[in-house]
Amino acid sequence: MSDQCLFCGIVAGDIPSVRVAEDDDTYAFMDINPAADGHLLVVPKRHSTDLMDISPDDLAAVTVTAQRIAKVAVTKLGADGVNLLNCCGAEAWQTVFHFHVHVVPRYADKTKDKLVLPWVPTPGDAGTIAALGERLAAAL
Ligand code: 5GP
Ligand code: ZN
Repeated sequence: MSDQCLFCGIVAGDIPSVRVAEDDDTYAFMDINPAADGHLLVVPKRHSTDLMDISPDDLAAVTVTAQRIAKVAVTKLGADGVNLLNCCGAEAWQTVFHFHVHVVPRYADKTKDKLVLPWVPTPGDAGTIAALGERLAAAL
């Protein structure tokens, strides 16, 4: 628990939220700026800053909760698909520094869905792709 952390405040109930699900390790609540109908956030109850910081156990717990809710978004909200999104670091669009996974239900009906693909997919340089892949693989 971090005193200054918005999502720790939400988990503690000090800051109001629309709760969707809760268990010993995770808390899920609606996002106040939804990218699509039903957009919510899943957080670990134990404070961690980001993907670099979170424990494997908490990461697994958050992911399992996100999957549970994603299934319900499809079966009960009528979503046609779901995006899970995590932003790690300010340069990667993270704005709240308590780890969270966005669960964004997606719809063919675009009146319910404002999310757009944030890059134009274009083929990369094959040599660069291979070299970066080798650097990553060599470090694992
Ligand atoms: P990030 O940009 O860090 O990936 O996502 C932070 C998310 O938290 C944003 O989608 C934003 O709308 C949401 N958010 C920020 N402040 C609050 C709040 O006070 N309550 C809720 N429910 N969501 C918030
Ligand atoms: Zn926190």
